[in-house]
Amino acid sequence: MLKAEFESPLDAAVVEAKQWLASLDHRPVRPEADGAAMLEAFDEELPVLGEPAEAVVRMLAERSGPGLMATGSGRFLGWVMGGALPASIAADWLVSAWDQNAGMTEPCPAVCMIEQVASRWVLELLGLPPTCSVGFVTGAQMANTVGLAAARTHVLAAHGWDVEADGLVGAPPVSVVAGAERHSTIDRGLRFIGLGSRAIRAVDVDDAGRMLPRALEAVLAQVSGPTIVCAQAGNVNGGAVDPVGAIRDIIDRRHSDDIWLHVDGAFGLWARADPSRRHLLSGVERADSWATDAHKWLNVPYDCGMAICARPEAHRRAMTVRASYLPAGDEENLRNPVDYNPEFSRRARAVPVWAALRQLGVGGVAELVDRCCLMAERYARSLREADRVHVMHQDLNQVVVRFTGAAGQDDDDHTREVIQMVQREGTCLPSATVWRGAAAMRISVCNWRTDQDDVDCSVRAILAAHGGC
Ligand SMILES: *Cc1c(COP(=O)(O)O)cnc(C)c1O
Repeated sequence: MLKAEFESPLDAAVVEAKQWLASLDHRPVRPEADGAAMLEAFDEELPVLGEPAEAVVRMLAERSGPGLMATGSGRFLGWVMGGALPASIAADWLVSAWDQNAGMTEPCPAVCMIEQVASRWVLELLGLPPTCSVGFVTGAQMANTVGLAAARTHVLAAHGWDVEADGLVGAPPVSVVAGAERHSTIDRGLRFIGLGSRAIRAVDVDDAGRMLPRALEAVLAQVSGPTIVCAQAGNVNGGAVDPVGAIRDIIDRRHSDDIWLHVDGAFGLWARADPSRRHLLSGVERADSWATDAHKWLNVPYDCGMAICARPEAHRRAMTVRASYLPAGDEENLRNPVDYNPEFSRRARAVPVWAALRQLGVGGVAELVDRCCLMAERYARSLREADRVHVMHQDLNQVVVRFTGAAGQDDDDHTREVIQMVQREGTCLPSATVWRGAAAMRISVCNWRTDQDDVDCSVRAILAAHGGC
């Protein structure tokens, strides 16, 4: 009886999922339908009567189809959204079927210990200290927030202030120093932890968006007391990495324990998994905390990020929770994930990471990173050769491109038109941005499937749009 109840909806989901994944090679990358059409497809009265589970699954797939973006395509280049590796998709299905609560080890030991091992593997792969603590969170937004919270705990504790117990009212003021090209999730994280985005003192950056050490020195000379410095490994547009080693040296010259260095490495941190590129992020291992994503460059399904902390005491103190009905974890070996992230009940989101790392191995991750960077370089090279195309920046897996209009045409307007035309045509999907005050197309290569053919036919589509509008 139970078997039959599960069998048909799960079989239907397998059929639908396989069809979707098989269609990625030939379907347009953009969705066919927009939000309004999708709302119309789903906007009906709350059903009074139920229906068979299999029918629900089939209806869901049928109605959603036109409104799905082919983010798993090798020609999806928008924002920084990775694809999903086969082992990680399948492992993610099992996570749902098992329905474990990955907060505590005692009731759900398998998934919590998989998380512990995945943590160790990620630290090794990224070349971070093995003693770091790791919290698996929903993404880099929450990873930044957790890192900043641990930082807040530590820099205030250095001044004898217990922020967990006493909050921020009456606390010594905390200064936050971050590059002018930081990701907006840093500002939002600061809102969440009560410091506010106005606490930020912005440090000037170079043309690539990298923090200028001299400018940092000047800003730090003006602040004393509890201080959090936020650096970045992988600018969301151009991929540039802050000179974290030099930043650390400047911080260390203050010779005090009330300053903390956090690195937002949402996607860029993964370049450390490629031995031929690790030097581009040298010094990054000297930070106090890092935020990164698995759902971007590691290619696991949404949602999965990691908050990593070189000072586990601060991490734990900022996040831990106790209640009379909860079993306590063993801090050394059998830790409870609930002590290292802001959630209570939670999905076993480390399981797809474990599966991705088993599928790829160390060499496979290095190859994935290397190939994405090589394909980004190929985009840059091919586009640079064309007339009236200006590659503004390329670093790691990111490319920023601007298009010059025909005589009398505004370049910003032309660039935006090219992007819209490319998106509509459907061969590939780059997204739009503003770079150094000018409209630009951004190309992000972070899919395990992207190959030279994908790049070459996408370049043709981009240049056709450029020539045709
Ligand atoms: C994507 C990104 C974030 C936010 O990550 P989410 O996983 O979307 O929460 C933060 N910082 C940088 C540099 C990013 O690229």
